[in-house]
Amino acid sequence: MLQIKEYSLVALDTELDNEIQAIDSLIKSDLKKISRIKIIESFFNDLKPIIDIEDDSSFIKAQRSKIEQLKLIDTSVSITDLRSFNPKLKLLATYLKKKRKYKKCTLNDILEFIFGYHLENRTQTLKKVLRKINLQNCVYCLAQYTTSYGLDGQKIYVKGNLDHIYPKSLNALVSLSINNLVPVCGHCNQRKLNADSSNFNFNPFDSKITPTFNFADVLEINNGQISFKNLTHLKIENINTTLESRLELTSLHKEYKSPIVNLLDRYKKFNSSSYELNIKELIKKGISADLEYFISETPFTEDNLQNIPLHKFKNDFYKELEGYKKSGSIKFS
Ligand SMILES: [Zn+2]
Repeated sequence: MLQIKEYSLVALDTELDNEIQAIDSLIKSDLKKISRIKIIESFFNDLKPIIDIEDDSSFIKAQRSKIEQLKLIDTSVSITDLRSFNPKLKLLATYLKKKRKYKKCTLNDILEFIFGYHLENRTQTLKKVLRKINLQNCVYCLAQYTTSYGLDGQKIYVKGNLDHIYPKSLNALVSLSINNLVPVCGHCNQRKLNADSSNFNFNPFDSKITPTFNFADVLEINNGQISFKNLTHLKIENINTTLESRLELTSLHKEYKSPIVNLLDRYKKFNSSSYELNIKELIKKGISADLEYFISETPFTEDNLQNIPLHKFKNDFYKELEGYKKSGSIKFS
């Protein structure tokens, strides 16, 4: 369930599609400018069968299979004669100086410049696409929303962080590809940045691991009365070890006291005799939305798990409570 599927980019609206096309053509026109330079001839030979810069294939909308191929192209060749680039890309020198790579730059540095992930309007377009395909929850912790809208004068922009699954520092050809990008929350992004991204071996497109929260030691049962103790003893089973060691997700989830307390309160209320009558009425009328609201505050499907912060956390907590109820170890007023 943590696994995310390849994004379908077919149904994007025309305006967004035009933005993507415009960026793709700028990239291709810059690539054409440098394509006659001898020392990088083999790069263009490798690129052509995957993305032809003469046709309308897209770097941004590249499918995962293409991304896998693009990643393999060697862009590490060092560029000693920058003069062959400078007349064609006037701003390149300033960019490389700023990155302190002017004297020791590689083809990948030049590609990073051409792909221009550092340009705000390009990242805004990418964020809009992720927003459009409704993936807005951090793919690592599944806990926090990452995108929201902001207003700059009359202009609406999308806030939030994007994470490159395959780092652009290793191959800038995939730096703008939507299928290489995932939303990431501040917590995870900050911790991931501290790690060497090339060693961060976790790909949410490939992962089949779903964490399970264990609340057994978080609760206390006394004479049939259940109460919240604290979250210090929260356990997460089946957690990906890379995620845990780099992103410290267990400690992040230990901060979510209030959803647990609220859910426990509602659970007790829901199981009280007056509520029972109320719910029987709802079931008779065939209204299930109210029941779903109780469980998660949002309708639950496996598909939207990634888009609902704390969903798994709350769902597992609810199951824990249900277990106590079924075994008769808790009583309700
Ligand atoms: Zn996160």
